[in-house]
Amino acid sequence: MLVNEMVQLGAKRSGIRELFEYGLRNKAEIGAENVFDFSIGNPSVPAPEAVQDAYKEIAARKDTVKVHGYTSATGAMSVREAIAKNLNERFGCGARAQNLFFTCGAAPALMSTMKAMCVADAEYIVLAPYFPEYPTFIHAVGGKIVVVPANTTDFDLHVEDIEPYYTEHTQAIIINSPNNPSGVVYKKEALEALAAQLRRMSGKFGHPIYLIADEPYRELVFDGLETPFIPNIYENTVVCYSWSKSLSLPGERIGYVFVPDACADSVDLFNAVAGSARALGHICAPTTSQYIVEKCCGLMPDIAAYDENRKTLYKGLTEMGYTCVYPHGAFYMLLKAPFGTALEFSERAKDFNILVPPCEPFGCPGYLRLSTCVSHEMILKSLPAFKALIEAGL
Ligand code: PLP
Repeated sequence: MLVNEMVQLGAKRSGIRELFEYGLRNKAEIGAENVFDFSIGNPSVPAPEAVQDAYKEIAARKDTVKVHGYTSATGAMSVREAIAKNLNERFGCGARAQNLFFTCGAAPALMSTMKAMCVADAEYIVLAPYFPEYPTFIHAVGGKIVVVPANTTDFDLHVEDIEPYYTEHTQAIIINSPNNPSGVVYKKEALEALAAQLRRMSGKFGHPIYLIADEPYRELVFDGLETPFIPNIYENTVVCYSWSKSLSLPGERIGYVFVPDACADSVDLFNAVAGSARALGHICAPTTSQYIVEKCCGLMPDIAAYDENRKTLYKGLTEMGYTCVYPHGAFYMLLKAPFGTALEFSERAKDFNILVPPCEPFGCPGYLRLSTCVSHEMILKSLPAFKALIEAGL
């Protein structure tokens, strides 16, 4: 006997994955250069050369037991110290090594954090559009997802939209900025308003409401903007971070949970994160990856290619009559379906060899997500196809 729900979950492919695999078949048939694949969010900018150098240096270390061995479950102390120092230099946030729990990327960081807080009847507020794995994660830890619909005027953070969704069971709100899929970066003022609201609601319901900041795109911001460091704005913030996007290391599975001292019950919360990770089978984050980020945490990503891509695509598409949300961060752009439903548009786009997933799984019907972490050449070549598509209609 097997758990049917897990069988279904494992057998079900995400729409994005299906489109990506359709693209692989399509590329084999008509040539990769003729398929305009905007489906998947795999960084196209290579990891910085310094990462390769760090790999070589670590691989050449004499103490191979240390290089390939387990670290403590929380992460190697030297690595935690290096990241705490880096966070303090950048954000002046009083981080200590003891506040950092290393994970196999942002996804397990989120799972461990959600599970740590999941008391009976726990509710998690998420803002649409949201990362499509949130519902799975929240359900898996035994919580209830509460979705605030997207504010389609600008896809930004409007605290008045969230107000009606708090209840006595609200344990946390999950914020993802820079946002996947909208590319919106929440501004300091909006986050301050959210902090004030969370303090008021915590007082009203008599327990702290945590903010889980899901931040794998923290450094991917354009137009001279900065991503505000949320623990400096709201004390009960837990940060889930990874180097998957910033250093283009998604396959190396390395990230962390940061539980600041200022967080309510911070020591217990940290232990609960560690305990939850343990209950989910965590032993330690990959050791070599830990040493890589110890050496490379000071590096900033080269965002020039993503910047150029988003500008070219936004200009090209809006000039043709498409409506897009101008992205200030991450490497995605939202496109409003110009005809039909998003699913119908996505299907029709395939006739023009354009692969663009609908945003229903992101809780945002009527929109599609374009990944701009692709080659610039592909973007340029795709523009005539987009023109033909909008002219053809359904
Ligand atoms: N959160 C968001 C918003 C993401 O877009 C992703 C990956 O695409 C993740 C979390 C998971 O990141 P990781 O690969 O580091 O687990």
